[in-house]
Amino acid sequence: SMASPALLMRVVASAYSVAEKAATIVRNVMAAGDLGIVEKTGANDLQTKADRLVQMSICASLARKFPKVTIIGEEELTTDEVTEDLIEDGHCEEILKKTCPAQYSGIKEEELVIWVDPLDGTKEYTEGLLDHVTVLIGIAYGGKAIAGVINQPYYNYEAGADAVLGRTIWGVLGIGAFGFQLTEAPAGKHIVVTTRSHSSTLVNDCISALNPDSVIRVGGAGNKIIQLIEGKASAYVFASPGCKKWDTCAPEAILHAVGGKITDIHGNSFQYNKEVKHMNSAGVLATLRNYEYYASRIPSNVKQSLVP
Ligand code: AMP
Ligand code: MG
Ligand code: MG
Repeated sequence: SMASPALLMRVVASAYSVAEKAATIVRNVMAAGDLGIVEKTGANDLQTKADRLVQMSICASLARKFPKVTIIGEEELTTDEVTEDLIEDGHCEEILKKTCPAQYSGIKEEELVIWVDPLDGTKEYTEGLLDHVTVLIGIAYGGKAIAGVINQPYYNYEAGADAVLGRTIWGVLGIGAFGFQLTEAPAGKHIVVTTRSHSSTLVNDCISALNPDSVIRVGGAGNKIIQLIEGKASAYVFASPGCKKWDTCAPEAILHAVGGKITDIHGNSFQYNKEVKHMNSAGVLATLRNYEYYASRIPSNVKQSLVP
């Protein structure tokens, strides 16, 4: 008989189904109309009922199956009472059929850290910019983002009732990334994607220094990585603190799985071990191709303003 699949593949296969359950919760909370908005650090840092329920659903579902894995979620919840209707115990068979890369085949539960952003793009969710929203489940080993799932609950929501609503993108280093059509941005054009609701003078000065052909301002770190892998933008540039490890872990794994690169604004790679500081204090620079073009043009005064 066949050997049981490697732990990593079982975790990714479960995370896929857990993220689909999360997407259903995100849509149901919106449809019910009561978002239950709470300000965290201020008016641009919000939590809704969907952020809370989804975090409980993802963390409890994965912890039940993989009790020794470290799971770090964005939201600080006042209750850890999880009702049974929030638990997802399914998995994606397609993922289990893939061969685990040899270097990951012996990973044990204690060695994995899962970074969860239950709802990335909350500000945009509350404003009805629904396709900016993603659910992010990033999987780290040895401090590196090695696998990730990005669910976009409202993918296609403006394409009409016939279109299938929502999608799940997943990837593993050494296997690749699936659930979308990998597309490079137009050759020779410099299209920068950045924040829509967390701009600052430094954020805008940094973009101006790159002299881009155009700038796309959209919410969500997950959404911006999707812009890169689908060829809508050539670089994600965010010269500001504010983005956290749960924002970048799943996007990083998927971007790296297709040959892209994400670092802070200095070019330092992100670490995802459980002890690491949550804040990506020195911003974000990501590309699918031509990383050096952008990295070499970040102004030194911008770098000096952002301490890792
Ligand atoms: P954005 O590109 O503005 O959607 O930001 C990407 C991610 O980083 C989202 O999860 C934001 O909530 C988070 N983020 C970025 N800047 C800030 C900030 N100044 N305060 C709180 N969260 C932030
Ligand atoms: Mg986020
Ligand atoms: Mg969030």
